Amino acid sequence: MRSQLSVLAGLCLLAAWSVASGEKLMFGIAIHGGAGTMPRAEITPELEAQYRADLAQALDTGYGVLEKGGTSQDAAIAAVKILEDSPLFNAGKGAVFNRDGEVELDAGVMDGASRRAGSVAGLKHVKNPIELARLVMDKSPHVMLIGPGAEEFALDQGMTLVPNSYFHTEKRREQLERALKGDRMAAIKLNYFGTVGAVTRDKQGNLFAATSTGGMTGKIPGRVGDSPHIGAGTYANNETCAVSATGHGEFFIRSVVAYDIHALMDYKEMSLDKAVNEVVQRKLKVMKAEGGVIAIDSDGHIVMSFNTEGMFRGARDSAGRREIAIY
Ligand code: ASP
Repeated sequence: MRSQLSVLAGLCLLAAWSVASGEKLMFGIAIHGGAGTMPRAEITPELEAQYRADLAQALDTGYGVLEKGGTSQDAAIAAVKILEDSPLFNAGKGAVFNRDGEVELDAGVMDGASRRAGSVAGLKHVKNPIELARLVMDKSPHVMLIGPGAEEFALDQGMTLVPNSYFHTEKRREQLERALKGDRMAAIKLNYFGTVGAVTRDKQGNLFAATSTGGMTGKIPGRVGDSPHIGAGTYANNETCAVSATGHGEFFIRSVVAYDIHALMDYKEMSLDKAVNEVVQRKLKVMKAEGGVIAIDSDGHIVMSFNTEGMFRGARDSAGRREIAIY
């Protein structure tokens, strides 16, 4: 009897130790600020420092929410809002212009626990599209709302709208002018950088994915990218992973990138690492589709992968990892 009790006590100690060491209960966050061909000449040391500072602020804010026991949802939204408010990234303020010189914004969120999702597209007046995507998920019977209907819903929910000029920046205006002049390469180079996203796992083990973007410079008005397409640019499922993508949206939609990573883990029992590698480094490359993803699995393991020159990114977890990187 006594030996059985001591075995039991030993097992309890072991369980307590593995929880304390964070083996199974690891929480963490990864963020991205877009992937693409990075013209090194355009990123001065000062500008790089600004990018890193805004990424750090988003990363640490999201991590802080998780550390205090907040939900994966609150952490991801808090991080993405900071990147939307930064003029450096192609989301919210500082987003790219469409062909007509207007900003049109898309965003999507998915909750890995309930598998509920919300997304918005073609917004012209919502300061933080990621907030509206969350409201679509939480307060509407739908998954996706677009254009004026989405903005009316935003007003109904008590959000204040801003003029389109709030989003405008000189840098993006120049990019549009170059793109319209037929400097296609310049447009492509500067395009893919800047979509923002976050994936999180909280202390309860719940996963969440959030992505927000202005799309592509010079796009035809009404064009919608992969970010708000659940399964393409954004996906989360507690059983497998949460994924947020950035890259050439048309390819990412056709390849159903985020869901594909989930499906490889689900049906083929691949690790997150292998699944991401298969999709980003093989499948997308075969299609000549440029971009990358950030992802977190049900154990809190973070993977960030891209097939471009760089991807603005950051990762932080309860095991002590903290990194911010561009190339
Ligand atoms: N994926 C975004 C889109 O096609 C663009 C980007 O990631 O920069 O809308």
